[in-house]
Amino acid sequence: MNKNTTTVIDENRYYDEAKKIFYPLTGIRPLTTGYMDLANQPPMKLDTPKKLLVILDLNGTLFYSSGQHYKTRSYIKRPYFVPLLLFLYANCRVMIWSSATRQRVNGMLTGGGFTGVEKIDRVWNREHLQLRSKDLYRKVLTLKDLEFVWSAIEAERAEANPEQLLEGGKYEFRYDQTNTVLIDDSSHKTQLQPHNCMIVPDFDSTRVQCGDDQELLKVIHYLSDLLYQDNVSAYMRTSPFNTNSAFYLSQEFHTKAAVWTNTPKNLKAMERKRERKKVALEKARAAKSAENTMAQKHKWTQEERKSARRVREVEMARKTEMTRKTEMSTVARIGEVAGLHLESPTAILPTSSDWTVPDWSQQLGFEDINKDGEKGSEKGRSFSGNGGCRTDHVAGTPTE
Ligand SMILES: [Mg+2]
Repeated sequence: MNKNTTTVIDENRYYDEAKKIFYPLTGIRPLTTGYMDLANQPPMKLDTPKKLLVILDLNGTLFYSSGQHYKTRSYIKRPYFVPLLLFLYANCRVMIWSSATRQRVNGMLTGGGFTGVEKIDRVWNREHLQLRSKDLYRKVLTLKDLEFVWSAIEAERAEANPEQLLEGGKYEFRYDQTNTVLIDDSSHKTQLQPHNCMIVPDFDSTRVQCGDDQELLKVIHYLSDLLYQDNVSAYMRTSPFNTNSAFYLSQEFHTKAAVWTNTPKNLKAMERKRERKKVALEKARAAKSAENTMAQKHKWTQEERKSARRVREVEMARKTEMTRKTEMSTVARIGEVAGLHLESPTAILPTSSDWTVPDWSQQLGFEDINKDGEKGSEKGRSFSGNGGCRTDHVAGTPTE
């Protein structure tokens, strides 16, 4: 890798004339033949998953930031932010690389409420793009060259404690194009390793307003396949992440996604709920049977039978209410963990293809922007996976 293979003479040259984005003074190096040779190999599937290094962009990928000044700026997490992180922490090594300044990156991590920051291997910002000093402070095309990451990790490895090199350690594996994935909302920034990147649509104000963004669910799905690839650049060259693929519109995807969005804690809670229901059903049957036995033995009249049934039903209702309250508090806690911020905590439990997603409109004051929308017409917004954007919005009080 050599970042100086291209020399840029005109420092006022635009990369994007319309958006007034400058061409970087470091130039844009060509793709290396070594990279393309390895990416051009046929993909090969593994029997067991391998550890990937996943590099996350922040703004536009995981967060929407509103407000120009850092003091007044607020950050909104993309839907399914926490399920994605839980998936990553369980299966991958994770690092962050944002082209924002150090201050803004810290703002997103703290102000945005990034879950499990301590599990992230390294947080990179604009300073790690290896820009010339003039480019650091102007609107310039920023390139996330994964060669910088791989060589930095190798340097870290040389300094690492021996136990960090062992199984499960931070430096157990070496990383290169066969096991690294960059997730970003800009294909311009990822052009130096085009077959190691998942380009997700920008999480912009429109998507925030829609409230039914599913990109991070799609990312989880794609990564779950990628874990079984021997050479991710070969696989991503032949089967790149495509947010508009037919699969992501299918019922199969939504069924799978319903399982993925249940955190392990959530799955355990659902299992306990099923178990409780089973026990309750058995008890109800036993109570009814005992009642029939008593009725026959004591030759109850019709009125006495009705009275006994009412007592049984009142008792069942009391127990059901107790169970419901317990479940509601459990689900509320899970909702909190999952960062779903739902008006009704029960909504995080998926019921077939009908889920409820959070409302961000009020927080952002979109009532003014979306003049045609209905205000406060429903308690939650549900979608059944058409991936489309609904323009209605609801009254609610997001907790974030
Ligand atoms: Mg971005």
